Amino acid sequence: MKFKYVIVGAGLAGLTIAERIANELQEKVLVIEKRNHIGGNIYDSYNEDGILIHNYGPHIFHTNDKEVYDYLSGFTKWNDFWHRVLTYVDGNLIPMPITVETINKLYNLNLDCFQVEEFLKGQAVDIKEIKTSKDVALSKVGPDIYAKVFENYTKKQWGIDPAELDTSVISRIPIRLNRDTRYFADRYQGMPTHGYTKMCERMVANKNIKLMLNTDFRELKKDITYDTLIYTGATDEYYEYKHGKLAYRSVKFVFETYDTEKFQEAPVVNYPNDYDYTRITEYKQLTWQQHPKTTIGKEFPIAEGEPYYPFPTKEHKEQFALYQEEMKKETNVIFLGRLAEYRYYNMDGVVRRALDTFYTRIK
Ligand SMILES: Cc1cc2nc3c(=O)[nH]c(=O)nc-3n(C[C@H](O)[C@H](O)[C@H](O)COP(=O)(O)OP(=O)(O)OC[C@H]3O[C@@H](n4cnc5c(N)ncnc54)[C@H](O)[C@@H]3O)c2cc1C
Repeated sequence: MKFKYVIVGAGLAGLTIAERIANELQEKVLVIEKRNHIGGNIYDSYNEDGILIHNYGPHIFHTNDKEVYDYLSGFTKWNDFWHRVLTYVDGNLIPMPITVETINKLYNLNLDCFQVEEFLKGQAVDIKEIKTSKDVALSKVGPDIYAKVFENYTKKQWGIDPAELDTSVISRIPIRLNRDTRYFADRYQGMPTHGYTKMCERMVANKNIKLMLNTDFRELKKDITYDTLIYTGATDEYYEYKHGKLAYRSVKFVFETYDTEKFQEAPVVNYPNDYDYTRITEYKQLTWQQHPKTTIGKEFPIAEGEPYYPFPTKEHKEQFALYQEEMKKETNVIFLGRLAEYRYYNMDGVVRRALDTFYTRIK
């Protein structure tokens, strides 16, 4: 069978391209997805108690990119959700990221913004060359806060010491010298009013888009030809692991439902030093659903399983560079998204990337 456009993967990357091809180019496009649903990792669904959960972990939309926000707003309305995270340290729940409130609560102080700045300067370690995530944390907050908040969380999350991870992991956590305890500072934040899956369904509601669920591209590959393939699956799999298997960190999500309206003080509570899980999400606090029961999700980081987070180490980046050499040689294959590019993208980042790819390489 011959197609002009074939997309592998019905995640946000694949669906954005499919939507543009179908609506803007008015062309037909085949989307192949190995799971039994669209949406990739942003998929959400109602559990047996009727509570909306995010099946692949909590997803909070936030961006400063107005074009991306406007684009997705064509398929959903948003609630005015502002994300908040608390971290359980020494028996207290302290706000994250680090703000004036965090320092005051952690050390039982009553400092103002300027005093907190001085306090953090006094804690910070002078590191000449910042090479790892540990260096980043020590140079920003010093050894005590590093040990209380970052060290064990990062070890649990990645299974290795922060001294072995590159700077990208911890540098993403901002430190705010004010009392703004929102987790993200972005201009646009929210949850799709009817969930991510509904948003995705609207993106592909076009007769030009043919969806094949429960279909692994590897099984279909020999039976189809195409002018352009947009591939959003794993690159090592595409090249049959010729340069070895790329490492990802995975997570086991364990959902529990309780016969109570509210379980915890914030939508997400982090547990850096206690328990085997890294955090607990209470879904009703994200979606604002009204329900007499509540469902929480615990996250247990694991080595093997669904590939979620590319491993940010020098060694793994070098391995991926070998695949990048292969990718450059392709003439009619576009590699796109978090798996194909072996890169962590937030939702806004992946939509931005997909829109740019469409307008520069497809249209
Ligand atoms: C735990 C977790 C929490 C996150 N939280 C946030 C958040 O709060 N905010 C935010 O902005 N972003 C968040 N993200 C990131 C967000 O999930 C990604 O930006 C987004 O899902 C990337 O979309 P994608 O299409 O690139 O990848 P995916 O969603 O992974 O889609 C790829 C699709 O390709 C399919 N596929 C792969 N191989 C094949 C094959 N051989 N044949 C057929 N189909 C195939 C897969 O089944 C999958 O459905 C989070 C990610 C994780 C893992």
